[in-house]
Amino acid sequence: MSYDYEALLQRGFSKMPEKVFKSSKYETPKAEVAAIGSKTLINNFKEIASRLNRTPNHLLKFMVRELATSGIVEDSRASLNGKFSKEVIDELIIKYIKDYVLCNSCNKPDTKLAKEGRLTFIVCEVCGAKNPAKTLT
Ligand SMILES: [Zn+2]
Repeated sequence: MSYDYEALLQRGFSKMPEKVFKSSKYETPKAEVAAIGSKTLINNFKEIASRLNRTPNHLLKFMVRELATSGIVEDSRASLNGKFSKEVIDELIIKYIKDYVLCNSCNKPDTKLAKEGRLTFIVCEVCGAKNPAKTLT
């Protein structure tokens, strides 16, 4: 199951640049992944979320939807049901950055999410653009 997903990811992400962020300040955080039984732990989950200026719960919501699984945030880490490789998790972080962190107008990561009713917008602190983000349900 997870292998199929990995193959899928590799195809989908093959066109992506290796580094999402140009400046080192925004170097893409890498997941510290550990497999415990049938679960996957991301030990530095809170740190990843805070580096991206997002809440751990929002990042988790994205990951469980993308992986079609469930999971919880416990202390500083996340626990996902199912076995997922570090590569898969790292690719998901990059996808999350593209979908929920980078400004669609100027491509800078200095943004925040603003909720308006049922819609979420990515509001850029650099150029002031406000672009709709994909809905996470
Ligand atoms: Zn911008």
